[in-house]
Amino acid sequence: MNQEFRIDFPATGQQYFLNCWSVSGLESCVTVRTGESRFAFDIGHATRSSINCDRVFITHGHVDHCGALAKHVSQWDIRAMTPATYYCPQDIQETLKNICQSYAAMAESLEKPTIASPKILSVKVGEDFPVSPNRTMRPFRTTHRVPSNGYLIYKQEKSLLPQFQNLTGYEIGALVAAGTVVHEKHSVPEMAYTGDTTFDCFLDPANADILQARILITEELIFRYPGTLTSSINPVLSIMFASLSVFFCMHGC
Ligand SMILES: [Zn+2]
Repeated sequence: MNQEFRIDFPATGQQYFLNCWSVSGLESCVTVRTGESRFAFDIGHATRSSINCDRVFITHGHVDHCGALAKHVSQWDIRAMTPATYYCPQDIQETLKNICQSYAAMAESLEKPTIASPKILSVKVGEDFPVSPNRTMRPFRTTHRVPSNGYLIYKQEKSLLPQFQNLTGYEIGALVAAGTVVHEKHSVPEMAYTGDTTFDCFLDPANADILQARILITEELIFRYPGTLTSSINPVLSIMFASLSVFFCMHGC
């Protein structure tokens, strides 16, 4: 599917625009746009909606998940925009940089040098990285044939403290003007993307927050391959996924 679709969360007023592009074994790229944030998860194909994403999270080094990296990087030079930031597992950072430098070596000139030195950051599981004024990204462990990360975005939100929830807007405004703290802040698991993984990532206690995310995007792989999902796990699956707000499953390889 190469068009965006919208998801509304009326309780929070949040809107999300998703484009989920996946051709089994060929190319995966999921984009999520909300407010001013534009995120791409994997870049196996440089979709039109991915071109505007300034944060790109690469799960692993298989070509169907990162094969269009150089094409995506080059777009920022062509369009004279501030280059995107790319995040990847530690093991593949240098290789991805080398791929881009190889394309730079074939270019006629380096007047626009982003392709020669893209901003590719290696990230560790469990560390937090700011990705917008009110969002952080935390990589989580997934299981695949090669080193791989999943990515979970947290959003910092605030809500009225319980003791003020019955007050009028005017009363709350007066309290704020008097210096009273009326809000409490929360870090909410907002969207999670697994890339290719076996089912274990959903059973790892360290990954509990991905099952609380408003949007979870994973690959069909976990339901299809022998040993990744057995009938004994099936009841667990339905219980765990019952807590999700939205769940997407894509073709995987
Ligand atoms: Zn793979």
